Amino acid sequence: MKTPFLFKPVVSKTSPFISPAQISELLKCAKNVNHAAQIHAQLITQEYIRLPLLFNSLLNIYSKCGHVLQSLSLFTASNSREGFDGAKNVFIYTSLITQLSHWNLHLKAISFFNEMRERGIFPNHFTFSAVLPACGDLALGKQMHSLIFKHGIETDVFVSSALADMYAKSGEMIGARKVFDEMPHRNLVSWNSMIVGSLRNGIFNEAIEFFTRMINEDAVVPDQVSFSSVLSACANVCGLAFGRQVHGRIFKHGLDKLLYVKNSLMDMYCKCGSFDDAEKLFVITEERDVVTWNIMMTEFVQNGNLEDACNCFWAMRRESVVPDAQSYSTVLHAAAGIGMLDQGTLIHNQIIKSGLGGNLYVSSSLITMYGKCGSLVDARRAFSENHEHNVISWTSMISACQQHGCANEVIELFEDMLRASVEPDYITFVSVLSACGHTGRVNDGFSYFNLMSQRFKIDPGLEHYACMVDMLGRADCLHDAKRFVETMPIEPDISVWGALLGACRKYGNLELGRKVAERLFQMEPDNPGNYVLLYNMYVRGGKLEEANEVRRLMGFRRVRKEPGCSWIDVKNTTHVFKARDRSHSMTNEIYKMLEKLEELVKQKGYVPKLQRSSNDLDEDEEKNLWYHSERLALAFGLLIVPVGAPIRIKKNLRTCDDCHVVMKYASAIYKRDIIIRDINRFHHFADGSCSCGEYW
Ligand code: ZN
Ligand code: ZN
Repeated sequence: MKTPFLFKPVVSKTSPFISPAQISELLKCAKNVNHAAQIHAQLITQEYIRLPLLFNSLLNIYSKCGHVLQSLSLFTASNSREGFDGAKNVFIYTSLITQLSHWNLHLKAISFFNEMRERGIFPNHFTFSAVLPACGDLALGKQMHSLIFKHGIETDVFVSSALADMYAKSGEMIGARKVFDEMPHRNLVSWNSMIVGSLRNGIFNEAIEFFTRMINEDAVVPDQVSFSSVLSACANVCGLAFGRQVHGRIFKHGLDKLLYVKNSLMDMYCKCGSFDDAEKLFVITEERDVVTWNIMMTEFVQNGNLEDACNCFWAMRRESVVPDAQSYSTVLHAAAGIGMLDQGTLIHNQIIKSGLGGNLYVSSSLITMYGKCGSLVDARRAFSENHEHNVISWTSMISACQQHGCANEVIELFEDMLRASVEPDYITFVSVLSACGHTGRVNDGFSYFNLMSQRFKIDPGLEHYACMVDMLGRADCLHDAKRFVETMPIEPDISVWGALLGACRKYGNLELGRKVAERLFQMEPDNPGNYVLLYNMYVRGGKLEEANEVRRLMGFRRVRKEPGCSWIDVKNTTHVFKARDRSHSMTNEIYKMLEKLEELVKQKGYVPKLQRSSNDLDEDEEKNLWYHSERLALAFGLLIVPVGAPIRIKKNLRTCDDCHVVMKYASAIYKRDIIIRDINRFHHFADGSCSCGEYW
């Protein structure tokens, strides 16, 4: 679209000139760069360009329209022109430095400041306040400080506020405080420098203290910056009581209508755990922006209300608010948590439309979501859509493969990542070490373990040690695993002992198993999993007496096994099954389907693995095995999920050995992909085998 002329370029013949006053008026109306260019031309033809005031206004307009470089070249051109007064004008230099500083062209601002001094023009207090924000590093800031001192203007309230701000931004709060304490006068800007500075440096209580002092000592009226910063400080120290007082003050000053302030209030209430207050504010807020919605979504996710977080996202879309990278990342996190692939796919469509697919933060969340929702194919596709990757996107892809049991791919990806010179982090190594364990790569495991601490300077954590113990246990080196635990430089936790107990179970080492289990009983007396494991070990070893002892211990300590529960999502409805569940409206069909399945798998040679049912002490009878929750979900899935589509089941516990066998048979008999997400990992059953390679 062509911009209409601000004024007629050819002025009427009777009055060929526009007076400087008229031009000055025109400059005030100029709205865009075309207007500026028109006025610029007029200034040149009428030789007004030498007038500092008009010249300066022109510079300002260019800069305000975002054409600061145009402003710069205009200034440079004027400098080479002889007899131009403006170049020697501190006023014009200051204005230019302010603009450069504002547009984050810090080096340019500093170089103009130096040029000005070389030309013998003395900077004034405005110049210093303008150049201080451009001092990126502390050394330069300190030089500027001594220069200010030499000019004798360090007591000027604007200069000293800018100085305090400079120190705070460089993380030098002691310097900032010193400048602040020596100020003879303080205004809102000075106080805000200290409040914002303390907040930025994570000294939240000081931010609150400065805010209180500002009101009590100086009777300065806080503005939205002061309020929003102090609220953020309250949020970080859970200062709900003080936060409420601040809310009262905001109301008194009539700033509660500003969305920016409202968002800070909501954030404070959420982070201080007063979700009701946040919700009240949310409801009465008419114009909500993306920040408002992000605060609510994050809050839902943190409270585990993942479905509400998803609903929140769609409500936001209905209000035509455009989501940003944070919104997408949060809602994808929620979708991943509930494993709702349909939701995730819909959100992915929105991301494609928004053009944010190239954002690594968003695409990493997308990879994680697909991984956790059981679609490794889509996770890989999302990963390959971006050519550039950072540590987060690499790690998301590596973790997704790990969860799906694709251990070889984990190692390949990791090697690719190293070749691409991206430094792995703590989480990357957890997946890599775990993959080494699952593929029996003991030597590689140890060399990666050393690589982590020696080359990448990451101290191994409990997760890494647990992976190593698990690896040694799987590789038949139970003795080494035990020694490894004994020589750990940090105190082993339940994950490490749990890995060792798993290894004992695998090799039927009852003696060590009992010792480890007893340790675990002490550390987490209420976790039924450890008792069940030991119980099953005794049963398998034929020691029924000891097994009953464990069962009695459980009863004595009132440890209850969490009931097994499986979910299946069909057409946006979640169907939940417990073991031996008969509450579903299609119960009759489901049990008929199970009978048929039992017949078919037995024809294929299935023998129930009675003793290896680690799920439920009471489910050790063959008939009960058949009514484990995941089998009910499977039967329902076979009845209702369209032929050809994969059946996706989620389970709250580890799936049992016997169900694992049945799923393998079922995938071959019905030619279906069955994907079970249990508490630890994914099992992708297809053509009679599982992606986990029997390791889980
Ligand atoms: Zn089972
Ligand atoms: Zn499996």
